[in-house]
Amino acid sequence: MLRRTKIVATLGPASSDPKVLEEMIRAGVDVVRMNFSHGTAQDHMARADKVRAAAAACGRSVGILADLQGPKIRVRKFENDKIILNKGDTFILDAAWDGLGNQERVGLDYKELPNDVSKGSVLLLNDGMLEFDVTEVKGAQVICKVVRGGVLSNNKGINRKGGGLTAPALTDKDKEDIQTAALIKADYLAVSFPRSGDDMKLARELMHAAGGKSLLMAKIERAEAIAVLDEVIEASDAIMVARGDLSVEVGDAAVPGLQKRMIKMARAKNKLVITATQMMESMITNPIPTRAEVSDVANAVLDGTDAVMLSAETAVGDYPVETIESMVRICTQAEKEAEDNALDHRLSHSKFTRVDQSIAMSALFAASHFKVKAIVALTQSGSTSLWMSRMNAGVPIFALTPTAATLTKVTLFSGVHPIAFKPSSKLPSVALREAEDELVRLGLVADGDMMVMTIGEAIGKSGHTNTLKIVRVGDHKN
Ligand code: PGA
Ligand code: MN
Repeated sequence: MLRRTKIVATLGPASSDPKVLEEMIRAGVDVVRMNFSHGTAQDHMARADKVRAAAAACGRSVGILADLQGPKIRVRKFENDKIILNKGDTFILDAAWDGLGNQERVGLDYKELPNDVSKGSVLLLNDGMLEFDVTEVKGAQVICKVVRGGVLSNNKGINRKGGGLTAPALTDKDKEDIQTAALIKADYLAVSFPRSGDDMKLARELMHAAGGKSLLMAKIERAEAIAVLDEVIEASDAIMVARGDLSVEVGDAAVPGLQKRMIKMARAKNKLVITATQMMESMITNPIPTRAEVSDVANAVLDGTDAVMLSAETAVGDYPVETIESMVRICTQAEKEAEDNALDHRLSHSKFTRVDQSIAMSALFAASHFKVKAIVALTQSGSTSLWMSRMNAGVPIFALTPTAATLTKVTLFSGVHPIAFKPSSKLPSVALREAEDELVRLGLVADGDMMVMTIGEAIGKSGHTNTLKIVRVGDHKN
């Protein structure tokens, strides 16, 4: 059985060796995430080349997701790299402090903090490990009482409970990094901490101005974004359920419900969705996952996520390949339990505005009412396969395309499998026959199997899919 759910793996020191990268791709990585919080433009370019070389060596299409750092809302460094704070201690976050931090105070990367908080604000540091109550704001000093103590070390992040920090989503560094993402032809560009649809629109404009074509992904990780989820999703091509920062801002218990809501909303709007953060966290140091992690990954699949993501597990973990193997195993098994949802409201009641979309939905309808082995989309831009992938007809969707950028873009679409294919003729009848032969050659279908195929009569033009054909494999030879 082909796996529907896609696997995104973050690259880092643990996955830099070309051999390891190849092993990870062979094990099942569909998309790699390049974290722009680390490294220079040169590093990213070299890394993209490495990924493409490894993918070619494995004969696989692998997508690239460039993830912008976003605003750095962090403390500065300490004299001795860290301090220990206890419940009841007074501690000052001091935007005017240029020295190294000590037991009394620490400097801030984010100078706006004193303007964004007031007496009574709750601040969470180090991914929520420490909790401070703001007791007073005095000029540039935010004076806090420690509610939950612990270790506070260099450059740890600060979140405000309930949101409300005004840092813009795109920093000057992000704007430069968008140029790099365009240069390396990243398939996806992730914006960290967007607050609104406008943040996404600005990122898209900058991407286009840089000559790039990356699809735009909103990382949903701020309380503000939850309040305007509709407009943020509309303005994006994809979203990430960024559970790390989101948990800190809205409270951990709210996240599982939000995950389900976001996945549903994204699919309904024909957008893609990744579920991210701590999915297999214990595998950073252990060769097997915990029961809870197994359930978490399986539940994301049952929620209908397009992809599950690994962060530190593959970037700095001890078991990058084993982690992917475990994820593959869990996803494949969970998919057997997933309900076919192709008889969704949309197929029965919604109106389509485009010919190609109508054909895509007709193919889905046929595939969910008539026993076929596969849906086959001969596509230029990949959009037919995107519409097809928004519901689960229970059969694989093969996206056959001559366009390199489409092959790597569809790597994130659940249930869609990219296949490089260029017909020898512009005649649809010839192209369909050659596509069938190619699928047989690859061992994906065999004589006697039924398939739903879609194609545009004007072959080679994007957005021109207008034909649906149901084919019994091998019949054309008789
Ligand atoms: P990050 O985003 O890993 O870049 O912080 C994901 C998250 O916050 O969950
Ligand atoms: Mn984050």
